[in-house]
Amino acid sequence: MHITDIIRKKRGSGRLSREEILFFVNGYVSGSIPDYQMSALLMAIWFEGMDDEETAELTLAMAGSGEQIDLSKIPGLKVDKHSTGGVADTTTLVAAPLVAACGGRVAKMSGRGLGHTGGTLDKLESIPGYSVTQSMERFAEIVTQCGVSIIGQSANLVPADKKLYSLRDVTCTVDNVSLIASSIMSKKIASGSDAIVLDVKSGSGAFMKEPAEAERLARLMVEIGRRAGRKTLALVTDMSQPLGNAIGNAVEVKEAIEILRGDHPGDLKEVSLALAAQMLIASRICADESDARSRLENALSSGEALDRLRRMIEAHGGNPNVCDHTGLLPQPDRILPVTASQSGYIGAMDAEAVGRAALLLGAGRQTKEDSIDPAVGIWLNARIGDEVRRGDAIAQLYVTSRSSVDEARTLFSEALTISPEKPAPGTLIAMKIE
Ligand code: URA
Ligand code: CA
Repeated sequence: MHITDIIRKKRGSGRLSREEILFFVNGYVSGSIPDYQMSALLMAIWFEGMDDEETAELTLAMAGSGEQIDLSKIPGLKVDKHSTGGVADTTTLVAAPLVAACGGRVAKMSGRGLGHTGGTLDKLESIPGYSVTQSMERFAEIVTQCGVSIIGQSANLVPADKKLYSLRDVTCTVDNVSLIASSIMSKKIASGSDAIVLDVKSGSGAFMKEPAEAERLARLMVEIGRRAGRKTLALVTDMSQPLGNAIGNAVEVKEAIEILRGDHPGDLKEVSLALAAQMLIASRICADESDARSRLENALSSGEALDRLRRMIEAHGGNPNVCDHTGLLPQPDRILPVTASQSGYIGAMDAEAVGRAALLLGAGRQTKEDSIDPAVGIWLNARIGDEVRRGDAIAQLYVTSRSSVDEARTLFSEALTISPEKPAPGTLIAMKIE
């Protein structure tokens, strides 16, 4: 078999067989296929697409390229969740302890921020002492004891994705449904959970800007999960504005803690509860959404969910007192208001630009080698539909000496549209696909 024949076939709209897909995935991981040939194949896939069968074969070939995590030592059904990536998207830190408090088992390997989107690992590392690196034995032990553990991906989890992802990033081939679906699902399948709940984002802050694209991605990932023998379902949720009020790392941890304390209603809480409900149903702990909802409300009001977060932090070497005193989290040097330039309603927000503004403050990476600043970020005082008056502080910038404040402020202000009329409310959870 020759890689040039495979490139030529895909370039001419051909279907790739399982053998051809295994050949290029394994060849690329082993180094026998160089970056330039893989780049040409990725671009051919980007233009010609892959059908569901090819995408499923690609996913399984990628999942099999490295370690397959065995979670069988942990009793009960293990459930995982995954977001396709968004801004102010802290659902994992809310939903995972909630599910654990209701008897679920969440063994989760999370990622770091990507582009303008935040990553759970970076957020967790803002908690003093929290270590995202644990042995597989310790990971299983923490899940068994606390019901939840969130760690980084082990070095050998889906090496095919590690290599392909960085190549896609620099060859403009990230935004293709088959490539995104196989990237995400290969990692979920190799991570070993029995059930997978996907949060597919749609809107200005998501990789999929259009609802129809998000739906196609959701259906494709659910189908891949089914073929791999995992119970998989997806919610398509709104990312036309940042999901929560906090964008950053320590600030997002603070917001998650406030939600678990019952002090902070809003869209982030709603989406987290919806995902947690699906995780409990997929784990066969709850029969339906109303059953799940009442158990989740109990876990919040009793303090049990916050206690699960506290225990997980402690088990990972972090300071559990942050759950009671969020002032123990890294703090910015200064907090600067951004004021409204006119009166009216927040009509629209470019969530990707808001994410990039937070990145300029230091909340994300501009190059692979960058380190992030855990204390910086943005706190939104207003979201879409809120009325503001000229001069009102619509947001606060949390900055340190490393922040590019002026650039971030300009980008943030341009990302907001203030309109004379109140916009029609959007749909937070557009659909469920199983
Ligand atoms: N997240 C991933 O893990 N992979 C993609 O391709 C896109 C988002
Ligand atoms: Ca992601």
